[in-house]
Amino acid sequence: MDDFDFDTLAVRAGTARSQFNEHSEALYLTSSFVFESAAQAAARFSGEEEGNVYARFSNPTVSAMQSRLAALEGAEGCVATASGMSAVLSLVMATLQAGDHIVASRGLFGATQQLLGTIMAKFGIETSFVPATDLNAYREAVKSRTKLFFIETPSNPLTEVVDIAAVAAIAHEAGAVLAVDNCFCTPALQQPLALGADVVVHSATKYLDGQGRVLGGAVAGAKAITEEVFKFLRTAGPTLSPFNAWVILKGLETLRIRMEAQSANALALAGWLEAQPGVARVFYPGLASHPQHELAMRQQKSGGAIVSFEVEGGREAAWRVVDACKTLSITANLGDTKSTITHPASTTHGRISAEARAAAGISDGLLRIAVGLESVGDLQADLSSGLRGR
Ligand SMILES: *Cc1c(COP(=O)(O)O)cnc(C)c1O
Repeated sequence: MDDFDFDTLAVRAGTARSQFNEHSEALYLTSSFVFESAAQAAARFSGEEEGNVYARFSNPTVSAMQSRLAALEGAEGCVATASGMSAVLSLVMATLQAGDHIVASRGLFGATQQLLGTIMAKFGIETSFVPATDLNAYREAVKSRTKLFFIETPSNPLTEVVDIAAVAAIAHEAGAVLAVDNCFCTPALQQPLALGADVVVHSATKYLDGQGRVLGGAVAGAKAITEEVFKFLRTAGPTLSPFNAWVILKGLETLRIRMEAQSANALALAGWLEAQPGVARVFYPGLASHPQHELAMRQQKSGGAIVSFEVEGGREAAWRVVDACKTLSITANLGDTKSTITHPASTTHGRISAEARAAAGISDGLLRIAVGLESVGDLQADLSSGLRGR
């Protein structure tokens, strides 16, 4: 389906009908598959004959989701995983070994930083963390065993935008591979592979599902990489469940429409927040006031659906805004059609020291909203009560 547009691929790619010719993709809740004969079983196990064997290796529903996401990312291959974190884990375990080195953005998702910096370090894989937007720092961090660059853009919660094409050039010059966590933009707004990245990782738990129902993840990119990831996954087992794959597969059908509508709501809310008394600063790549607005508009189709802002009055004022919310859900999850609000300093970033938090720019007055599909007016009304109460 290479010649089709994104919108067609989103609803059609990966569809494979069974003998019943069902219109909507079937959900195959089966852990194993039956063979016609001993010879076929042997051929399937040896790989001589293509086909399903056991759901830790493959399942038709999971395969459909993988094909559809690969088509949307413009990827040669895609491997689905049980969660976003198992996508990161599988990529690192499959492609690196003890002695190898990673250059990673300091703006990465907290658990990714923990996985690379602490857990992988136990196995002799070292990571240097660099400021997300400092291209020289990426260049200077390169070592003789640097094999992987890992970035995420825009970052969470400060929406820093990393220049994918520029970091890809630095990574390739160093003989390394660039991985991009494309969770915040999704392929509907940003296609890292077209910008020079070699592989994309996803938390499908967020916008790909889009309705806060299931956990899932994926690694998509060059075949040489995804084939290694598949070999790791089929042995180690952090495979995506067919049920979750089916939910995500259906989520992909509305991905672009949701991303555009949620981005439009986010832009309206961000602009409104900038004009509110008591709001010291708004972080949103779609606003002209964002330090990397131009880069963001070159690299992304829109600013995305995550808006962060700092209120005057520190933690007390920030908590007042959170506690006054009746519509916005108080939860750290994001990527849902329901808007969510979180206070990073006391939740997602609560376990790091106050000094480290300050160095990362996460102030006590910072709030992050993942904007959903509610009316902007209702979201504004919800936030005004908390902002007025200061
Ligand atoms: C949530 C998230 C992850 C981890 O995904 P899980 O599905 O929760 O394992 C990784 N990266 C980013 C940017 C995320 O938001």
